[in-house]
This record gives sequence, C-alpha cells and structure tokens, in this order.
Amino acid sequence: MPVRAPFDPTYDVADARFHDLIDPDAKLHHLADGCTWAEGPVYLAADDSLLWSDVRSNRRMRLDVASGEVTVADEPANFCNGHTLDRLGRVVACEHGTRSVVRFEIDGVRVVLADRFDGKRLNSPNDVVVASDGAVWFTDPTYGIDSDAEGFRAQSEIGSSNVYRIDPLDGSITAEITDMVRPNGLAFSLDESSLFVSDTGVSHVEDGPRHLRRFDVDRCRVVSGGEVFATCPDGVFDGFRLDAAGRIWASGRRGVHCYEPDGTLSGTIRLPEVCANLVFGGSDRRTLFMTANTSLYSIRTRTVGREV
Ligand code: MG
Repeated sequence: MPVRAPFDPTYDVADARFHDLIDPDAKLHHLADGCTWAEGPVYLAADDSLLWSDVRSNRRMRLDVASGEVTVADEPANFCNGHTLDRLGRVVACEHGTRSVVRFEIDGVRVVLADRFDGKRLNSPNDVVVASDGAVWFTDPTYGIDSDAEGFRAQSEIGSSNVYRIDPLDGSITAEITDMVRPNGLAFSLDESSLFVSDTGVSHVEDGPRHLRRFDVDRCRVVSGGEVFATCPDGVFDGFRLDAAGRIWASGRRGVHCYEPDGTLSGTIRLPEVCANLVFGGSDRRTLFMTANTSLYSIRTRTVGREV
C-alpha cells in the first residue's frame, strides 16, 4: 500500500489505513515517570482518572487526567499487575503478591474472586478481562513467583500457566486454555465470539512463543481455534486492547502495534521505552494511554476505544 508522506516520525506506517487512525499533528505526551515497571492501566470514566501498576515498586499509581496530577493510590499494593473494570464499573485487579484476582467494591472493600484452582494456589495472575455476562477471565503465568522482584518466589503448585474463567453466578473456576507457555494479555473480540491471548513464553523457552493467538468461544467456553493471529515483531505482546472497530492495539518493545481485524499490521506508535500495556480513555475514549517501563505516555487517536 502507498505510504503518505510526510508523516509524524513518531509512527511507522505499515498500511495506509493507519493514516486514518492517528492525527498527523498528534503529539506524544509524557505524563509520568519514576516507575520501575509500569503496567496494567485502566481508565475510570467516573472521575476521569487512570490507575496503573508500578509492579516492581509494589504500588498502584493514579493520574487525574484533567489536571495531570500523579499520585500514589496504594502502597504497598500486593504487587498488583493487570487491571480492568467490570460491568458495574468496579475495578478488578491481578495481584502477584497474594496470587489472586480481586475486585474492589465501590466503597473500597476488597473481595478475592480467585486464589486457587483445583485446591492449588494460582501462580501469579497477570491480566484480566470481564465478559458481558460478568465472567472474569484471567491469565496465570509465573512471573510473580519466578523471583522476589515482583512478588514472592515460590514453586508453582499447579505446574502450568493457564487461562481461567470465573463463573459470574457461582464463582466456580474453570481452566479454559491449558496449552500456552506463559499466557499474558487477553481480550475478547467485539462480539465475544473470539478470545485473543498473548503468549510471552519466549521469556522461559528459547525461541518460545511471542505471539497472539485467537480462540473460538461458544456459550462462555473456549471450544476450538488457537491459531496464531500475529507474531510480535519486537519483544513480546505483553498487553493489548481493542478499539470500537475491532482493531487490536498491542504493546511491544518499540511501542504499540496496531493490527486490523484481519491481522494486517497497520502501524506502530514508537515510544522511547519498552511498552508493557495500554488502554483507551478520556471522556471520548480517543486517548491511548501507554505504560512503558518507567513512564506513562498518551497520544490522541482518531479511533475510539471499545467500552470496557
Ligand atoms: Mg501482562
């Protein structure tokens, strides 16, 4: 496809469709620094704020979007990692330190949703998404128990790294995907017929996976599929989110890669640090917030993030 020039050098354009997604005049904003491993951002429309994890510093950070003020929301924070919202706007968090998935009620009360599977402790839940039926899906790699750097070193009791579903009615937990090396980020397609999960297993296996897989979901269960949707061109896809058109925006070593729903790499927003995760936010959900190593960045887009 022809590439329109000139284009802001913050981007690499792989497909001309990317020109419709980013304003050529959009600037990259550096909103916060001083983190040791910024991860797990979630946008709260209720108070126009952003929460994210500074995993290795064991704290949860908060940005007041309107004023730009950055504060520490929780410290210590159980080595929190991925965050999302449920359908009632409650924050759901993964915690390496407690090896659990938790929910914060509107009044702040913390409720443990899952800390064991089949009687064994989870490894260290990493990222989480809530389906429209209220089910909580999460990944459970070992990064939080591999060392004391972002949790507490321990042996895996389960012995594998899986993707789990917490039933919204009875709280029961099922292992839905069990053939990944280190499942990490996850998100549903717009119609929830597909579940995308990244595997960052190259961290533990030489020439191991660093790709995104797509699974078929039917009646709340993973039933088939699992083919590779995209392979990360640089580093790993730690976290990713969809926009309202079904594009996948995924983190990588150089920044954020945008994939069309057909799997075509559309473009890359380049960041000066390794990107771990991202989320759309702002009152119009057109701002892309990106957690990258020590920092939080944002850029305005011409697309709209899907409602979470
Ligand atoms: Mg992650």
